[in-house]
Amino acid sequence: MATIKEQEELIQTLKFTPRTYRIELGAYGGEIYIGSVERKIYDYFKNNNIDIEEYASSWDDELGVPEEFQPFPAGSAYECDNLIHASGATMDDGNTVEVFDENNNMVWSCSLDTGSLESAGVETEEDEEFYLEDNLPEGQVAFYGAQGEKGLLFGGNIELKAPFDPSKLKICYCDADGWQLSNGIMYDGEDVDNNDYSTTGKWSENKWIINGDEDIYDPEESWNVPDHGTSPSDWESSPKFKFKQYKPVYQGWYNVNWGYGTTYGSLYWNGTNFVEFNYGKENIVSDDSIVTWQGYDWDTSSWDNQPPEPVDVSCDNKKCGWVGRGDVRLEDEDYNHHCPECDGTEFSWIDYDPDTAKGRKNRAKYFYIKSDVADLEAALENLKAEFERLCTEDSEEVKEQNKGTWPF
Ligand SMILES: [Zn+2]
Repeated sequence: MATIKEQEELIQTLKFTPRTYRIELGAYGGEIYIGSVERKIYDYFKNNNIDIEEYASSWDDELGVPEEFQPFPAGSAYECDNLIHASGATMDDGNTVEVFDENNNMVWSCSLDTGSLESAGVETEEDEEFYLEDNLPEGQVAFYGAQGEKGLLFGGNIELKAPFDPSKLKICYCDADGWQLSNGIMYDGEDVDNNDYSTTGKWSENKWIINGDEDIYDPEESWNVPDHGTSPSDWESSPKFKFKQYKPVYQGWYNVNWGYGTTYGSLYWNGTNFVEFNYGKENIVSDDSIVTWQGYDWDTSSWDNQPPEPVDVSCDNKKCGWVGRGDVRLEDEDYNHHCPECDGTEFSWIDYDPDTAKGRKNRAKYFYIKSDVADLEAALENLKAEFERLCTEDSEEVKEQNKGTWPF
């Protein structure tokens, strides 16, 4: 004899019109694949200093790795997966499983960590586990690839013949070296197909792994790329020099316009040529294609030589005339800046572009302002001489001076 509760459930079920609900998992997850790799393949990459990250993303194999030394076809890292391959939503409390009715109203949801799921009556099952340290023999090389995704990691339909019941839901997952990823959903004993998957890639990682103490080579370590500092600010940059007329005196990085005027960026002057570096290899940029170059206007062999940064804003109130560093202005609660002298709120940035008359004038006017008046006057005298020389850079005499005296 059925209990009253059982009778009520039976009535509910008989009254229930079959309908299709949706189950969705998100919003974070990804894919991971790990495969064992022959030592000779790893050695080839190491000896040729090839970045595995680069190889994994070069679809047309521009690195030219011979087939016998390919851990996987170039750009197809996911094919190197004989140890583990898993993808899905991350099983943690940052994710959710949601169930929507036929009108797209959410009727049930739960955090996607196994603890919360089990408390909600959902069955969970770890159906695969792989840990590198337990599964790689000492000295064995493996390739490890992973990518993180955001969006809808799983979307599938469930056919209901009775009201939705969380205890009929089962979520299977894989533990891939500590990353738990959902890999299967069942409802009422039936597999639910993932037919609505829509994510965007957030990160990816491709690396070598060797079990044991052996260090993995770092391709960048043996790259011979000279150190690259920051580009000069306007106030400390040299004028733009025409490459046909002037060559840099010092080795180092410069802002260069090359490619017959089409390209702006950093090139390295090696004393003879401007060069660019492609994965650590130095390539000469043809002299003909270089238009202008520009560097620092102070001796960068020591950072101590950097002159103090000049004032950079002036108050627009003509009667006030305050100039100073922008960060000493007072800021109100609406993030408006106020002049420390007249409380005005209109300012102009001081232009120090070395290639404009205005910029040069500002350099002469504001550079190296110190509290000591004598220092200031001396500095201004020097600057005046310097800038008069610069402003007339077309004369032959100045060209010679430039070569020897501009420290770049
Ligand atoms: Zn002012």
